[in-house]
Amino acid sequence: MSWPAAACAAGSWSAPAGCSRGSRGKGLQPRTLEVFDDLGVIDEVLASGTEFPPFRLYAGHDVVWERTLLQMLGADPIEPSPQTPYPLPWLLPQWRTDEMLCRRLAGLGVEVEFGTELAGFRTSDDGVTATLTRDGSVEVIRADYLGGCDGGRSTVRKHLGVGFEGQTFDTERTLVGDVRVDGLDGFFCHLLTRDGDLANRFSFWNLPRTGYYRFVASMAAHEAPEPTLAALRDLLVTRTGRTDLRLHDLRSIALHEVHARMVQQFRIGRVLLAGDAAHVHSSAGGQGLNVSVQDAYNLGWKLAAVLGGAPEQLLDSYEAERFPAAAAVLGLSTALHRHYFAPPSESDPGTGPALTQLGLGYRGGPLTDEGRAAPGALQAGDRAPDGLVRTADGATLRLFDLFRGPQFTLLGFGRPGAAEPFERRYPALVRARTVTSSTVTSPGPGGLVDDGRVKATYDATEKTLFLIRPDGYVGAVSESPDAIHTYLRRVGAR
Ligand SMILES: Cc1cc2nc3c(=O)[nH]c(=O)nc-3n(C[C@H](O)[C@H](O)[C@H](O)COP(=O)(O)OP(=O)(O)OC[C@H]3O[C@@H](n4cnc5c(N)ncnc54)[C@H](O)[C@@H]3O)c2cc1C
Repeated sequence: MSWPAAACAAGSWSAPAGCSRGSRGKGLQPRTLEVFDDLGVIDEVLASGTEFPPFRLYAGHDVVWERTLLQMLGADPIEPSPQTPYPLPWLLPQWRTDEMLCRRLAGLGVEVEFGTELAGFRTSDDGVTATLTRDGSVEVIRADYLGGCDGGRSTVRKHLGVGFEGQTFDTERTLVGDVRVDGLDGFFCHLLTRDGDLANRFSFWNLPRTGYYRFVASMAAHEAPEPTLAALRDLLVTRTGRTDLRLHDLRSIALHEVHARMVQQFRIGRVLLAGDAAHVHSSAGGQGLNVSVQDAYNLGWKLAAVLGGAPEQLLDSYEAERFPAAAAVLGLSTALHRHYFAPPSESDPGTGPALTQLGLGYRGGPLTDEGRAAPGALQAGDRAPDGLVRTADGATLRLFDLFRGPQFTLLGFGRPGAAEPFERRYPALVRARTVTSSTVTSPGPGGLVDDGRVKATYDATEKTLFLIRPDGYVGAVSESPDAIHTYLRRVGAR
């Protein structure tokens, strides 16, 4: 199924009042961009944001150095490729991301009900009864499942009594928000200091196409000012000596206490926790929003499958897959947080590749079936890379365009017609295409032609079948069609 083209049309739609006000998770990591490609919002995301600007360190008015994000992370330069079309993080204030996702949902006929609070809920063997309040009125609704995606202070998590293990950096505070600034030149992450000491910096990021800057200043808790514009102006002058910069039009401000915590269970019967409700991170490394998007992306298709009749155990794989992934990201963001509070040193190991979340996968998990005696470089559980193929009528097709939508995709390498029978057998569940070499005279009806690069990327032989899940991970790899049928039955095929 492809997304309806009309769903992205902005029309006269305006963001509901409940969308994020602050720029918050402003860095979209490459894997998140791939999810947004699948969800049909990537064009808008790319048009509204920009690549991360370089960092520029000042001592007073003097520029000490300028470095790119990759130089800061100790990573090698990287260019887009057919396998990885979005290799770099993208700068976009979270209020824009929220607006775009709400608009996309509205286009699909889904309204986000802001101003409606979950006051409490009860679970039973066959469902959840939730009490909602809105404008003083109370509504009781019954549902099969409850998704606890209600942020770091999650009512759902607290109601369940699930522990939130980890640490709070209670001797530190971060003042963060969005403001207009007159007097800064150029598109940078401006790291302002009095004398080049990064530990006492005041940072301003240009937010693309908004006229606002995101500001960040970290300090000891006992030195934290009131979160007001006046205090912000004072802090800027104290830290940097810069009296020439004028701050005005404060859009958002928060004095942020940094937590690094996560739950031990993501599924508690009929309740599933996702995003900040399940884990909260330091903003160092820009991971929080991104790992939350990945939770929802992992959970969404499983919930849809179970509601459509797939075995309920499918939902257990959500925790099995996302717990280790979230724990790994939490470890990374916490390590980076410590690093950020000390001046970065030239000898620190580069963390760039880990931050992209492109390498996170589910190898060895309950929903991976690697059926080859000698697995290739790309295995069940890995992210399915993009690539370019040709259709029978000579048009170029991206694999991500083929994967887009809520169905599984079967890529069958080898002779024409190897994969298509699966689509005829499971038309609502599977899109199946054979990928043949360009030396084959005809790829067959619906078949795809590869110049050899996709086969190399997938490390496939002439008989390999790759079953790609709706969330873009390789679910099963085998040379046996029976193994693919078995996997599909586990996820609801009849
Ligand atoms: C100041 C700040 C700076 C940040 N900086 C970064 C960054 O640089 N990079 C990054 O990746 N991430 C950053 N984050 C984190 C990022 O914003 C979150 O990880 C992300 O928003 C998590 O999304 P979520 O949907 O899980 O939770 P949220 O975005 O918090 O959304 C939860 C929603 O649930 C609603 N809700 C809460 N309780 C109830 C209830 N009882 N009933 C109904 N609705 C309820 C809330 O109103 C909210 O709309 C930052 C966060 C903050 C606060």
